[in-house]
Amino acid sequence: MENTAIRTTLPKSPASATRLDATSVDELQRLVQSALADGKQLYPISRGRNWGYGDACPVLDGQVVVDLSGLDRILEVNERLAYAVIEPGVTQGQLQAHLAQHYPSLWLDVTGAGPEASVLGNTLERGFGHTPLGDHFAASAGYEVLLADGRLLNTGFGRFENCPSAYLFKPGLGPALDGLFTQSNFGIVTKMGVWLLPKPEALAGFAFSVPERDDVAPLVEALRPLRLSGTLTSTIHIANDLRVLSSKRRYPWDMLDGTVSLPAEIRSAWRREAGIGAWNVLGGIYGTRESVAASRRALARAMRGLARVHFFDETKLSRAERLLRLARSAGLGARLGKVLEAVRPAFSLLKGEPVDNYLEGSGWRSRKPPLPGNLDPLQNGWGFSWVSPIVPMTGEHCLTSVNLMESIFAEHGFEPLMTLASVNPRALCCVTTVSFDKSNPAECERGAKCHKALLDALVRAGYPPYRVGIQSMEYAYRRGSVFCEVVQAIKKALDPQNVISPGRYVAPEKSE
Ligand code: ADP
Repeated sequence: MENTAIRTTLPKSPASATRLDATSVDELQRLVQSALADGKQLYPISRGRNWGYGDACPVLDGQVVVDLSGLDRILEVNERLAYAVIEPGVTQGQLQAHLAQHYPSLWLDVTGAGPEASVLGNTLERGFGHTPLGDHFAASAGYEVLLADGRLLNTGFGRFENCPSAYLFKPGLGPALDGLFTQSNFGIVTKMGVWLLPKPEALAGFAFSVPERDDVAPLVEALRPLRLSGTLTSTIHIANDLRVLSSKRRYPWDMLDGTVSLPAEIRSAWRREAGIGAWNVLGGIYGTRESVAASRRALARAMRGLARVHFFDETKLSRAERLLRLARSAGLGARLGKVLEAVRPAFSLLKGEPVDNYLEGSGWRSRKPPLPGNLDPLQNGWGFSWVSPIVPMTGEHCLTSVNLMESIFAEHGFEPLMTLASVNPRALCCVTTVSFDKSNPAECERGAKCHKALLDALVRAGYPPYRVGIQSMEYAYRRGSVFCEVVQAIKKALDPQNVISPGRYVAPEKSE
């Protein structure tokens, strides 16, 4: 089965490529029963857009992929309490379109993985987006889970009959079980409640840059108090120059052979040309007109001496788009066009509208242009894998971890494409891409080595990843023996025959 991440570690046996569809929970129950009877192992996926982390591939050989994309009903939308109940196959695009058509007062939080990615699948990997509901695990409640013995479990208050709070109060009563079914293999999640954002009276996007690499330290120091105080309530994305450049440019194959990372002179020349900084910030301020105006002032004040903050909103963007149409009819507007090309998709994400523009950066080391109208990384043959350490939101930790990663990238001849995302007010997730030319086996090998060297060094330095791909599950298995023993005991109790996703975040028994 094809995969964007690391070709050399793919499941090799033909059985692993077997794929079955399930379009109802009954059907899924029957599949699990017959897998138990036949000694087979199943690997459920929702939409399989886990790009750069293994796509739709199982962790180990010999598993049957169970595609749940046919379980795609939006079972409920509650407008007053702002939540939806969805099945695994529901995509970001589908839920957003449904809300826009029937519940325009509600917004969804989306990732940059595009309209076809599963909402539930991303939540099970504890992904994050851009709005005040950016932490997807925190903004979900009331899971229905099919266990390996065929029983259906409801987490939280879902076990109480006719409970109107089943999707409203995540912990329920007694042990809170939601977390057990994320980044694990303890069951197949068949539905979940997802919290939605009431459309705010006002939304101001903001964007600004700081010129130098080390400016990330004062920048993070200035942003943290605004996150901690609740002045800024949503995920802030701080992208380095290469991350921004990768959405429009490619590694210069005409000048370099791929074994060396992009030289600093080219990097800074491209940065100047694009009018961007070493670090480029994007975020949103949500609230009433008054509260947004006050937070804008607080942000501008906090950045004084560091950067000039640019704000944008729907009115400003629509006006600029009208102006651009006029300018274009007179053969002008190239610069404005470029600005809007960057800002409009960013604003879409802030409003919970999925766009696929941000997928293009995954093709940084590709030698071919994208397929016409198709930015699917797998279909384009792009090679990349993610390394996503969690770093305390302080200037010192940011600089230490960024320096560490940059030196490892340089050693292996690759470029650090990085985004620091303030997933909560205290921690940053440093989402980093190892991009390689998938058509070149030697480069794939080097990419895999770079990926491993990064994870090893980060874990040693105290910056473990928040999530790993199928090639790196060992990092989830190997630290903390009591933790691992407890996890194994839960697996044994819930799935003694190892039917569901063996190896996914939980060490397969034989390696113990
Ligand atoms: P997306 O399309 O949003 O990327 P995926 O379907 O790829 O989501 O899901 C990510 C990972 O989560 C999968 O590789 C699989 O291991 C796990 N997963 C997805 N859906 C389920 C589910 N319904 N139950 C259990 N595990 C799941």
